[in-house]
Amino acid sequence: MLRYHTHPVTAFAQNCSIVWDDATKQAAVIDPGGDLPKLLAEIDRRGLKLEQIWLTHAHIDHAGGTGQLARERGLPIIGPHPGDQFWIDGLAQQSKMFGFPPAEPFTPTRWLQDGDTVTLGAHTLNVRHCPGHTPGHVVFHSPEIQRAFVGDVLFAGSIGRTDFPGGHHQTLIDSITQRLWPMGDDTVFIPGHGPESSFGEERVTNQYVGGT
Ligand SMILES: [Zn+2]
Ligand SMILES: [Zn+2]
Repeated sequence: MLRYHTHPVTAFAQNCSIVWDDATKQAAVIDPGGDLPKLLAEIDRRGLKLEQIWLTHAHIDHAGGTGQLARERGLPIIGPHPGDQFWIDGLAQQSKMFGFPPAEPFTPTRWLQDGDTVTLGAHTLNVRHCPGHTPGHVVFHSPEIQRAFVGDVLFAGSIGRTDFPGGHHQTLIDSITQRLWPMGDDTVFIPGHGPESSFGEERVTNQYVGGT
């Protein structure tokens, strides 16, 4: 069984998720934006073996703790899509702009493309490229547990901002309707901020993408 626990980090209450294989305790952390001591305490408390970092996109609240965590634990950094290289290059500037602790620079061990997969123990998640909020944003989908980790693409009742450099509103709408909706109405998504919801619920009630 694939399991997960979502832990809000940083002043932006970014939903960092710890995912793990229940049988082997092999774990990955999605979007370690900061608050690393808290995250590592949670991982230790559950007896997990942290093996990978997965990134949805390179905004500071999602990626700020990545360089330090990867260096200290010797972990591979998987994702995001190469379209976010300029956000990675700008992490130091993002730290200053938003009052975050300085972010260590990093280079992804493996960039992700649409249609790729990531593996954790016996479990495989599908990668979809969902640009619009950032050009290199990806989401991680587990058909096995009907969950999708969607970062800042879609929220309960809202969608990601598109007013940052590289953002594009219609591209984001297309990502949601063409790449998230096909995962199925019953799929529950874990957004980058705020509560979980399902694609079916958003298709009906979300004012930005409802009725699509
Ligand atoms: Zn973002
Ligand atoms: Zn965010």
